[in-house]
Amino acid sequence: MAFSIHGLSVSRGVVIGRAVLVGSSRRDVAHYFVEPEQVQVEIDRLRTGRNTVIDEIIRLQSSIQQMGPKDTPQELRALLDVHLMLLKDEVLAQGVKQWVSERFYNAEWALTAQLEVLSRNFDEMEDPYLRERKADLEQIVERVLRAMQGVASPVLPGGPDRRRKPRQSDAEAADGGDLILVAHDLSPADMLHFKQSAFSGFVTDVGGKTSHTAIVARSLDIPAVVGTRSASQLVRQDDWIIIDGDAGLVIVDPSPPIRAEYTRKQAQNLAERARLARLLHTPAVTRDGEVVELMANIEVPEDVPAALACGAVGVGLFRSEFLFMGRHGHLPDEEEQFAAYRRAVESMHGLPVTIRTIDIGADKPLDGSQRDDAHLNPALGLRAIRWSLAEPAMFTTQLRAILRAAAFGQVHLLVPMLAHESQIHQTLAHLQRARASLDRRGLAYGPVQLGAMIEIPAAALNLRPFLAHFDFLSLGTNDLIQYTLAVDRTDESVAHLYEPLHPAVLRLVADTIAQARSKGKGVAVCGEMAGDVALTHLLLGLGLRSFSMHPSRILAVKEEVLRADTRELAPWAAGVVAADQPEQAILLR
Ligand code: PEP
Ligand code: MG
Repeated sequence: MAFSIHGLSVSRGVVIGRAVLVGSSRRDVAHYFVEPEQVQVEIDRLRTGRNTVIDEIIRLQSSIQQMGPKDTPQELRALLDVHLMLLKDEVLAQGVKQWVSERFYNAEWALTAQLEVLSRNFDEMEDPYLRERKADLEQIVERVLRAMQGVASPVLPGGPDRRRKPRQSDAEAADGGDLILVAHDLSPADMLHFKQSAFSGFVTDVGGKTSHTAIVARSLDIPAVVGTRSASQLVRQDDWIIIDGDAGLVIVDPSPPIRAEYTRKQAQNLAERARLARLLHTPAVTRDGEVVELMANIEVPEDVPAALACGAVGVGLFRSEFLFMGRHGHLPDEEEQFAAYRRAVESMHGLPVTIRTIDIGADKPLDGSQRDDAHLNPALGLRAIRWSLAEPAMFTTQLRAILRAAAFGQVHLLVPMLAHESQIHQTLAHLQRARASLDRRGLAYGPVQLGAMIEIPAAALNLRPFLAHFDFLSLGTNDLIQYTLAVDRTDESVAHLYEPLHPAVLRLVADTIAQARSKGKGVAVCGEMAGDVALTHLLLGLGLRSFSMHPSRILAVKEEVLRADTRELAPWAAGVVAADQPEQAILLR
């Protein structure tokens, strides 16, 4: 029977397809597709992991036997028997094998996928004793996963061939369903692995609209809903589902009339895209002749073609931290970083590329395993420039790599989360040191424009040092909203309080734009507000002429730019900012 689940819309459009459940990232396994020729290798890794645990248990059993019955509780013996039985169970082994050989899941993903299937079976059992065996199953899966950690997959996630669509079963191929990823949570690193696989939609239980997982999902330009709280519990593997990305709705097991309705909606969306595509070569100039820069936010150099295909006139934000994620401690060295930055710069053919120094921490841990849930307030902790300044060797390595890439095109260097003047001076000193070290090594580097992200209210309220030391400012509205309103951007339970149109937020945004302009400095918005067509006219009215957003939003924003007359918009925008209820005032025009 059909039912619907509500969440937060993070990426528009409609998709109809089959659910692919992936394990919670709390269980912290990598999810990626393997090549057909790697299937046997993955199955062997599973077998090795399982055999290791079986051996461990048998060894434990024999040492218990030597102790004699008095010293070991009967329960422990029984528990080990159950674990052994579960490990040898064919349903587990066969199921896991199937996920690898038919869906091409990597070994760890296959194991957790099968765990989910079996867990549901246990949940449905009448007998409470049998129901409780689910915990045993979870324990042995954890142990096998741990045993497999020592046997790394030879298949590198995120390799060049990850664009391959996961193979669908014959039934799916016949019914033409797309594959939709459903998960409790996905780390940004997970999302990166999925980036070029062919999922056509995403649903997660947790996350706010501007959580980094949502941002990566949006960059895939496929319908996505986050913050559903329970989708991963309610949806089953292979269920038919519809994502209505506009409404933030997931419909499970839709009836034929509902499917027909959404098929119509999909066709309308396609027609809308085709209409917008006609604007590709139209310059973004307002009716009164103001030239507006529409740039792209990217996560990896491979995103550049999509940015150019959408008519971006530059990269306004390259979130460099994505190069560092999921690397299991092996961070990219200077050469690897340099190669990546250079690739991005050269692919932009002379257009500017704004490389932001690493913004790690909070909801973007380097590895899932480093996720620090116990930390009281990660968003207020050692994040972004704070982290870089605490890791000076890493920071200067990155600065050197960026400076070297600047010899190959126009590079802007952007520093995240600055608040203190002392941080500005330290950053500039590191930059000097990086240049000096390149001089010593005789390596070529180029000039960079230096920018500061304004994303902490303290920075927005004290712009003087920023305007004195930087060439341009970039408003990181995602964090500016989070920190101004004290609303965790990743927490769906307070998502209703995350309000870009809050008067306090608008004042900080308006003031930053005005002050930067009055000093002749460049100013951009690179947070999600830049790609929201409902806010384009407001930002234009406040004097913004540089927007950076997901490539998929550029044409829609351009359409708003072409309709705008900034002479009319300026007084109206000032009124919206001054209003008690800007969300009402913005509607009056
Ligand atoms: C922002 O905070 O608005 C921003 C663009 O940076 P990030 O989303 O990566 O924190
Ligand atoms: Mg930010």
